[in-house]
Amino acid sequence: MTTLTFTELGVAEPLRRVLVAENYTTPTPIQTQAIPLLLAGRDILGIAQTGTGKTAAFALPILQRLAEAKAPVAPHSALALILAPTRELALQIGDSLATYGRHLGLRHTVIMGGVKANAQIKAMARGVHILVATPGRLLDLVNQRQIRLDKAATLVLDEADRMLDMGFVRDVRKIVAFLPKVRQSLLFSATMPNDVAKLAGEILHNPTRVEVSPRTMTADRVEQSVFFVDTAAKRDLLGQLLKAPEMSRVIVFTRTKHGANKVAKQLGLTGVEAEAIHGNKSQSARQRALERFRSGDARVLVATDIAARGLDVDDVSHVINYELPNEPESYVHRIGRTARAGAGGIALSFCDPSERAYLRDIEKLTKTPIKVAAGQPVRATAAPSARPAASNASRAAATAPQTRRRRFDDGRAHRAA
Ligand code: AMP
Repeated sequence: MTTLTFTELGVAEPLRRVLVAENYTTPTPIQTQAIPLLLAGRDILGIAQTGTGKTAAFALPILQRLAEAKAPVAPHSALALILAPTRELALQIGDSLATYGRHLGLRHTVIMGGVKANAQIKAMARGVHILVATPGRLLDLVNQRQIRLDKAATLVLDEADRMLDMGFVRDVRKIVAFLPKVRQSLLFSATMPNDVAKLAGEILHNPTRVEVSPRTMTADRVEQSVFFVDTAAKRDLLGQLLKAPEMSRVIVFTRTKHGANKVAKQLGLTGVEAEAIHGNKSQSARQRALERFRSGDARVLVATDIAARGLDVDDVSHVINYELPNEPESYVHRIGRTARAGAGGIALSFCDPSERAYLRDIEKLTKTPIKVAAGQPVRATAAPSARPAASNASRAAATAPQTRRRRFDDGRAHRAA
């Protein structure tokens, strides 16, 4: 595909000025495909994950069309609705709208659970051009007649697969029933299981399918390796690895909330500033943790998959999969945190004997074998763990520093290129 400019895609001047200021020199593939279609009013089914630039792909055309239409905003109403599964993602979309739309004079607000509703109700009193919301709280406020959706002629369902995983499908259907029948609808999803395809069929009208493969968009740019290590040795391995100053901003993933707390606590005991985020934490605690991580006060963020969904933090130097995810798609999401638009990144995975099946599923999905970290015994896929796990672990820990340095040289060369 020839590379088109934002001007050639039809993006208007006040938005282009922001893109220049934000250093968006070239549209990403999802932007190249989606922007002209959306400006023309088409529905799209977008298969793209976070990290591909999909937020701008839908936010820019929506902002532009609303700015051009100059339609009045009614009290308690919105002209466009963006649904997101998590609070973090909703807030990030809100931030993106504020950034991209800063010369347009449009209003937007974010409605989400986990915080008091009063300020949200107040923000909606005058109405907004764009409402970003998580489904549960939105439905509550619609039922309380604090929000009306009958003017929302543009709908975005972001991360639809996660929305369904989190059990929001009934809420989503109820919300869609409040919207005008004639509207522009967009659905984005990283994966397209049957239930998402079914929902897309109900919501979208004659959509164009636009797709960017996660592998070429993110995974290919991330340098990945795996340590075969016993569960009990993971803690020491993590401590060893984190001694490297190059590990400047690290997200450590666990499968469970409990695991995230435990790892953050252990790191704290060894003097590493770490924050945990997961679904059991209040919204303000999650925001605080994220701020400390963003500002660099905490070098490590320990996160579960759901909490980290859509996390957009620049310059994450490493992603460490302390525990491998049981859903292979989550692996691609996770490692995408360290390769934000254009940059390369490094992802290290700890695989204990019980996680080998997860590793195989991941490699099947990405169609790429993950290389074994240097100094590790070569993996025998057919006969896993011929060697006692503990000896793998101690080798991994012992060889970690030199593995790390080598990888970093590669990483720098990659970045400079
Ligand atoms: P998203 O997939 O929407 O989460 O975007 C991932 C990241 O890429 C965000 O930090 C955006 O600010 C950034 N981004 C989006 N589009 C571009 C672009 N065309 N050029 C450079 N960065 C971009």
